[in-house]
Amino acid sequence: MTANGIIDGARAQAPLRERTQVVVIGSGAGGANVALRLVEQGIRVILLELGDQYRPEDFSQEPAAATTMLWREFGMRMASGDTHFPVPGANALGGSTVINAGICFRPPEHMVRLWHDEHGAAWATADRLNPVVDWVWETMAVRPVPEPFLGNHNLAARDAFAAMGWQYGVIDRNAPGCVGCGVCYFGCPSGGKRSVDKAQIPAAIELGLRVITRARCDRVLVDGGRATGVEGVLLDRSGRNRRTTFHIDADAIVASCGGIDTPILLQESGLANIDDGVGAQFHVHPGTGCVAILPDRETEIWRGVPQGIYSDQFVEDGYLFESSNLPASAFFTLGVRAGENPDKWMKLYRHIALAGGMIRDESPATVTRDALGKSSVKMHFTDRDLRKAVEAMRNVGRAYFAIGASAVLPSIAGVGLLRSPQELDRALARVRSAADLDLYGSHPQSTVPFHHDPKRAPLRPDFALHRYPNVFVADASVFPVALGVNPQITIMALGRIAGDYVAAAL
Ligand SMILES: Cc1cc2nc3c(=O)[nH]c(=O)nc-3n(C[C@H](O)[C@H](O)[C@H](O)COP(=O)(O)OP(=O)(O)OC[C@H]3O[C@@H](n4cnc5c(N)ncnc54)[C@H](O)[C@@H]3O)c2cc1C
Ligand code: SF4
Repeated sequence: MTANGIIDGARAQAPLRERTQVVVIGSGAGGANVALRLVEQGIRVILLELGDQYRPEDFSQEPAAATTMLWREFGMRMASGDTHFPVPGANALGGSTVINAGICFRPPEHMVRLWHDEHGAAWATADRLNPVVDWVWETMAVRPVPEPFLGNHNLAARDAFAAMGWQYGVIDRNAPGCVGCGVCYFGCPSGGKRSVDKAQIPAAIELGLRVITRARCDRVLVDGGRATGVEGVLLDRSGRNRRTTFHIDADAIVASCGGIDTPILLQESGLANIDDGVGAQFHVHPGTGCVAILPDRETEIWRGVPQGIYSDQFVEDGYLFESSNLPASAFFTLGVRAGENPDKWMKLYRHIALAGGMIRDESPATVTRDALGKSSVKMHFTDRDLRKAVEAMRNVGRAYFAIGASAVLPSIAGVGLLRSPQELDRALARVRSAADLDLYGSHPQSTVPFHHDPKRAPLRPDFALHRYPNVFVADASVFPVALGVNPQITIMALGRIAGDYVAAAL
């Protein structure tokens, strides 16, 4: 039943009963780091993970197979409300770091100041946070993308941003062995990306961490205002069927299931509900952009890292630009929806580039579980967020026209090729609500935010619930407002800091 210190729940024969000091639920960016920090201090920890452990050779490049295997809710997790768009995340040992694009940003300084000055986080100072971020940066082997692996489509974005006179840079990534094949979202087949299952989790296992995969925690157990343990089920290899149950007694619990599953777990355990601020404020960095047709460039969007260039020119306006690749199947679908001739359309594929604005969203949104047991994310776009989305499309479209695009295709549902900035402006003027947009958001966060005042947020700045001091949260849920940059490095750093507070509380 164990391999490399990992208990494979899918092979369990009998109910599992354990006792430990700390149970960490979820092995992604937050969970892996809190677990490592705890075992470094000699604390006994069990890490539970809903998904399986994967090796590079397990990953399929076929989108349907890969998403069914690796993505939460079998690739069907969506946000709805004013609109309807995918919110992917992984279930795998290593969480969403297994399927992410490897983009790394340090926590923005203005955000750290906000956490400290307005939310009461004593740890949010340069002295305390910077060494932890440096440690994460080194552990994840973060480096700028080497030029040979950028690929022509990323270089087109670089030229477009430069043509507009905007600030831009090459993206830093945690992929020291990357060969630029561009399929990160389906798991890295070369093993070149350094997700937490390759770095923090093996290091923690060396120090005594016990890991159970295919273990779905269904409930945090409480007695008299304190958590006493967790219970759940061990699933078969498909992740669909239950094999047996587990029950673990512990002195402290850390929920690290990600920005959607953590609030649901706390709600379902009866620890808190929307009125307590758990799942009451969801953010996700929704993205909109433009696909550009660049007839004079062989962009070959399938070559090179998926995302290689950023521009922070409009950060103050609430969005960050990043270039991106686009699978042939997605490009085909866009053409069909716009009524283009499929044969002519696919001939354009070797000449396209794509960049989008990742919006620092402020719109009200909630997370609960629906009657079928799936997540229910309801989002209602404010005019302000809608304006950011429209401006992001306008600006990136203009940038591509500036380097010779013959047409652009904005993220507006059903709109086809627009052949000038004026045509783009007219299409954008017709956008009335988020329902008109093709959105995407892969950074669920802010659903169990921290604030020193229990009336303002459910979590204390030391990552414990105000109402249950031995229940901690260490994942993307803790951000008081949307972070505004790709979050994995910040989540990892905060996970490590949370580990110190959990240890102190034991
Ligand atoms: C396609 C994609 C691309 C991305 N690209 C980037 C990028 O380039 N750079 C960047 O900074 N960020 C990126 N992100 C976001 C980043 O990966 C996440 O923000 C980060 O991994 C979130 O960390 P977390 O700890 O909150 O949750 P996760 O890393 O998602 O981990 C949560 C884990 O908890 C497990 N879990 C959930 N419920 C339970 C339960 N009940 N019991 C047991 N286990 C459970 C899940 O299976 C999962 O493994 C991307 C995300 C996606 C999906
Ligand atoms: S581009 Fe390819 S090799 Fe590089 S990290 Fe992504 S999947 Fe791995």
